[in-house]
Amino acid sequence: MLNGKTALVTGSTSGIGLGIARAMAAKGANVALNGFGDPDEIEAIRAGLEADHGVKAVFVHADLSNPDEAFTLIRKVEKDLAPVDILVNNAGIQHTDRIEDFPPEKWDAVIAINLSACFHTTRAALPGMQARNWGRIINIASAHGLVGSPFKAAYIAAKHGLVGLTKVTALENAKTHITANAICPGWVKTPLVVKQIEDRAKAEGLSVEDATRTLLGERQPTERFVTPEQLGELAVFLSSEAADTTTGAAFPMDGAFTTW
Ligand code: NAD
Repeated sequence: MLNGKTALVTGSTSGIGLGIARAMAAKGANVALNGFGDPDEIEAIRAGLEADHGVKAVFVHADLSNPDEAFTLIRKVEKDLAPVDILVNNAGIQHTDRIEDFPPEKWDAVIAINLSACFHTTRAALPGMQARNWGRIINIASAHGLVGSPFKAAYIAAKHGLVGLTKVTALENAKTHITANAICPGWVKTPLVVKQIEDRAKAEGLSVEDATRTLLGERQPTERFVTPEQLGELAVFLSSEAADTTTGAAFPMDGAFTTW
């Protein structure tokens, strides 16, 4: 289904990005991985994608907090693999604090990685997509791209901004076969969320199990985590020909997080 396409998934050494990279490879896309982690583990992931799915997979380093590295990531993928047909802007970090206690350097880091990097990769990838008249840009926003919560000022500002960037990308390319959509997950059990659960368990004197139940129970009515595999399937759909006129949208996959 995605045979012959090249997908770059930022932040794909872990969690949701890895789930999306696996889903893309399973449908025949060649995949460029990016993110931090142990080099041996990353190599095992890369080699596993090739062995399991018969596609080409490369790892391309870029620290997306740096605008130049975000921009040149696209050029590196072109050189090491092929031009980027499917760009999944997924890398993200979190920091929680009340606004008056929020360290400005944490604000800058969250905005740089969760929002500005998506602008830099998009502006680097678009001219090639326009020349080929085909492209898919999938921005991994969040339920927090659609609704607010306390203590996450930078994250929520970045994710709302990313939904806005998605709309502009879609509108500017609407007459082409380039689409831009955002996916807005609810809680997914990845390292990013496990840390929040552990912090909460410590702060509130709860067991990790009780902190998990509380976290899901207060915002995610299904009380089940969304999975990276489910998000991978949605990203595959958005990359397909069936989604050629699906653009500018923000898709919640959130266990009804945003419906109340
Ligand atoms: P994760 O911590 O498992 O993965 C984050 C990935 O980003 C990792 O591969 C990490 O190495 C990479 N990364 C971090 N900083 C980077 C940098 N400076 N340069 C390059 N790569 C960097 O987290 P996750 O939960 O899989 O999150 C993935 C995306 O999904 C994020 O954008 C996050 O905001 C979003 N999201 C997560 C949830 C959730 O519940 N887990 C919910 C909604 C949205």
